[in-house]
Amino acid sequence: MSMEKVYLKDYEKPVYELSTIDLEFNLDDTKTLVKSKMKVKRLGSENQALVLDADEVELKAIFLEGEELHESEYELTSNSLTLHNLPKSFTLEIHNYINPEANTALDGLYKSSGIFCTQNEPEGFRRITYFLDRPDVMAVYTTKIIADKKKYPILLSNGNLFEKGDLSDGKHYAIWKDPFPKPSYLYALVAGDLGVVNDSFKTMSDKDIELNIYCDKGNESKCSFAMESLKNSMKWDEERFGREYDLDIYNIVAVDSFNMGAMENKGLNIFNSHYVLADSDTATDTNFMGIESVIGHEYFHNWTGNRITCRDWFQLTLKEGLTVFRDQEFSSDLNSRAVQRISDVKALRERQFVEDASPTSHPIKPESYIQINNFYTATIYEKGAEVIRMIHTLLGEENFRAAMDLYFETFDGQAVRTEDFIWAMQEKSPFNLEQFKLWYSQSGTPELDISSVYDKKSKTFKVTIKQCFLSPVNTEQKPYFFPFKIALLDNKAQELNLILENNSSQILLDKNILIISKEEETFVFKDVDATPLMSFNQNFSAPVKVHTSYSLDEYAFLMANDKDEFNRFEASQTLASMVLHKIIDAVESDLPMSLSPIFVSAFDKVLKDMDLDLSLKADMLTLPSVSMLMQDRKVLDVEAIYIAKNFVKRELVRELGADIKGQYISLINTKEYSLDSKEMSKRKLKNTLLTYLGALKDSGVVKAQYDNSNNMTDRLTALSVLANSRENAKIDALTDFYERYKDNTLVMNKYLAVIASSELKETPANVLKLLDDEIFDIKVPNLVRSLIGSFARNALHFHAVNGKGYKFVADKVIELDKLNPQIASGLSGVFKDYSRLNDNARNLMKKELEKILSTKDLSKNVYEIVSKILV
Ligand SMILES: [Zn+2]
Repeated sequence: MSMEKVYLKDYEKPVYELSTIDLEFNLDDTKTLVKSKMKVKRLGSENQALVLDADEVELKAIFLEGEELHESEYELTSNSLTLHNLPKSFTLEIHNYINPEANTALDGLYKSSGIFCTQNEPEGFRRITYFLDRPDVMAVYTTKIIADKKKYPILLSNGNLFEKGDLSDGKHYAIWKDPFPKPSYLYALVAGDLGVVNDSFKTMSDKDIELNIYCDKGNESKCSFAMESLKNSMKWDEERFGREYDLDIYNIVAVDSFNMGAMENKGLNIFNSHYVLADSDTATDTNFMGIESVIGHEYFHNWTGNRITCRDWFQLTLKEGLTVFRDQEFSSDLNSRAVQRISDVKALRERQFVEDASPTSHPIKPESYIQINNFYTATIYEKGAEVIRMIHTLLGEENFRAAMDLYFETFDGQAVRTEDFIWAMQEKSPFNLEQFKLWYSQSGTPELDISSVYDKKSKTFKVTIKQCFLSPVNTEQKPYFFPFKIALLDNKAQELNLILENNSSQILLDKNILIISKEEETFVFKDVDATPLMSFNQNFSAPVKVHTSYSLDEYAFLMANDKDEFNRFEASQTLASMVLHKIIDAVESDLPMSLSPIFVSAFDKVLKDMDLDLSLKADMLTLPSVSMLMQDRKVLDVEAIYIAKNFVKRELVRELGADIKGQYISLINTKEYSLDSKEMSKRKLKNTLLTYLGALKDSGVVKAQYDNSNNMTDRLTALSVLANSRENAKIDALTDFYERYKDNTLVMNKYLAVIASSELKETPANVLKLLDDEIFDIKVPNLVRSLIGSFARNALHFHAVNGKGYKFVADKVIELDKLNPQIASGLSGVFKDYSRLNDNARNLMKKELEKILSTKDLSKNVYEIVSKILV
């Protein structure tokens, strides 16, 4: 296997076209026979060789125009099949075997928990049969599946069902035809003994679509929220984007063993059951919202991804950034826009900002990769969505919709590039987007320095915004072009009218948006009567970090008064971070800790503000996470961060405990569980307050919530708080939880995560014990992520000074790499803080990283990540 890089600049058009492919599967656990019959046409003038991709497939026979080829007539390697001297057009038939049961990588066709299913994005199809496995080769697929009727009564593939029937020996078959040409990564097949929930949807042109969600038998009742979300998605895409569904059937299948969240295969989405199955007893509010968003995401791909797909994998953000933007808008339209924005930005910061500050930082459109599987990243997805959001802000909703219509109209049925998308946007944009394109090619989170001067005499307020370039991998960066939403507040928190001294066209002043394009630029506002305070980057108009010289009081003012709800949250987090970093500094220098009264009073004000949206209030009362705080430390002292955070919690409870408890009690609800957004907000605030009450000596309140809760949201929060306490109530609750849910693997994921995330010193021992528990199976990615992944993200234990955390995770990376390289490389990303560790920790981690790299037969996936970190 080569560790060579693939470069975007080396892209060449395919020299052959495969216009149709007829597949036949004879399903067998260990020896499935795949027959594929393709119509092939040479596109180039020269008679170039046809090189088909392959991985772990066993060739049985090849027929050219019906004639079987002798092995001297082709070249076969483990990763390719090459044919020379071919006619201009011909039919090629290939028969090969694959072993679905041995496929623990869960890539291609695999069998798990009695179900055959596929995952082909990005390069899984070559693990099914020999093919030009690249997204710009689009073919019309017909699939015949033959299987044992009793074991696999349900046989599914893409498109519409064409025919089904019985065969001899207890077998049966189904033929599926997908009329839309598609790339191989969108191909799907499922066979199993599954339960199903049916429904239907009438489209805007009165077409009835059959909707089915398949799951393990017995779980049908847990599919209703997913079905509702699917219908909402179909309706929303018609209303907001004018997009209608195009096949007669839309099928979703939920499986337990899946590497990703879900996959948008044409007409046959395959989902991690985590994003389908839910009821109040087993799923949290966050799980329900996650289902709505992922069901929407995969559905929206039908137009942004399937109908218009990517020319090559460097274009991945073309479909992902855009579709994440669409699913974020869907969730915003259905729920609270401000709360959705806060949750999206939180996720961006927790995942993408960290990635962009690490050795694996890359632009949303990377120039090279060793293993494309490693590029399904927060950068391609979440930062990609922020880039689309900036375009949306610059164009405005109406122009953006017109530009999207143009994009669909122009490129439907094609495999295109991000440049083609920008072209459509440019056609309807009031701004020249040339400089904006740098967002696609430059990596790193842009940082801004903001300074301001008020001049009493001229009544002007001068704001200087400077772009600083601190990318870890690319130092020769050019200034970005972006929208920057601001407001100037007077001392009574009234917003001033913005009047610029030199009104330039590069400003959307009616929307309070400045257009930033230079390395340094100054905006002079006139008719300003007294020094104002600027609220900046409102609603997070650009994905940047901003540095100011604002005082704690100024942030407290914004936290209490900003009209932009997102920015009130933002100010709360900045204020808390400033206070926390001071305490962390004190811990590191062995100085006494003290909590700023300005923060306590700002926190108190929010707590007592009864007009605030409860969900926003919960967000504002949440302290920045350990991983957020870690981002701003030059040298990591993880323990100091935990000490500081726990100190702040204790101090807040000491000072405001009575109010916190009083409000907590007022939010207790004994009514039936409801997903009404008001009820969800109430629960969110109640549970945020409960995490503070966990700092009380007596955990009675927490245990009472655990015992009395009628839903998973409340029960799980109480359990996580208890899992960090030293009392007996903890043992009781954990035992009860395990016994109550041990047969439900989705709930056991939560249990494993709670234990692996605990700060208590027995956590590493508990994790080791759970590896041998009957509920754990290292072959199931969800379980690995919950137990091993949560432990690896538990900074306190991962960065233990004895190096045992590093060793444990490194050993698991090596073990997993043999089974599932994709999951192993995902896990290996936790070593990314390597360069910021102190000498002792760095030496310990280095030893482990070198151990991984020297492992025999290491996958490209893990090699690429670890070698980047160790540079
Ligand atoms: Zn996607």
